[in-house]
Amino acid sequence: MRQYEDILEDNLEWVGKKLSLDKDYFKRLSEGQKPPFLYIGCSDSRMPIDTFTQSEPGSFFIHRNIANQIFSNDMNCLATLEYAVDVLEVEHIIVSGHYNCGGIKAAHDKCRKSNILSSWLMPIKKIEVEHKEELNEIEDEDERLDRLTELNVLEQLKHLFELAIVRNKIESGKYPKIHGWILDIRHGEIIEIEVPIEEWKSKGIIPTEYNK
Ligand SMILES: [Zn+2]
Repeated sequence: MRQYEDILEDNLEWVGKKLSLDKDYFKRLSEGQKPPFLYIGCSDSRMPIDTFTQSEPGSFFIHRNIANQIFSNDMNCLATLEYAVDVLEVEHIIVSGHYNCGGIKAAHDKCRKSNILSSWLMPIKKIEVEHKEELNEIEDEDERLDRLTELNVLEQLKHLFELAIVRNKIESGKYPKIHGWILDIRHGEIIEIEVPIEEWKSKGIIPTEYNK
């Protein structure tokens, strides 16, 4: 296990490496940010999206919470979203879950240990109940949780499309593209989730002006 002192030493080593390759690296980094991506993902320590996508600092504006939830009353998420969309004018919004997510498992197991966490995860429990029939047909427990993880990303995408910040942008004609991902932590690969755009448009979830 790495010790606290190790991470400070490793920071200095990284700074040295960066400067030896490009003496203006930090000068440029400090001048400002224009990230093309807003990433909304899980807090899990195994999900550093910069590492998985070989990205340098400045690529992703990030909001993370347990099991990548998007709620219309979460000021933290809304403020991040508004800043990303209105000020940074990101070109893409990515909502990402991951297999073997502790949050999904805790929601499935009904997580009775913590009141706060069980409240936070209650919407996932609702998704599980809503899709009971489909999920019950999957015999393997891990595969069933994988599917619940995918359904959770789809549900959060719906929430995102329904937020005024996003809808107003789409209706204005200049808007970020919205994507759903699963990070397959067992293989390290990113899986893109198919968003049923036309179906959601017909149900009014996605404004008709939105095009992929
Ligand atoms: Zn997770």
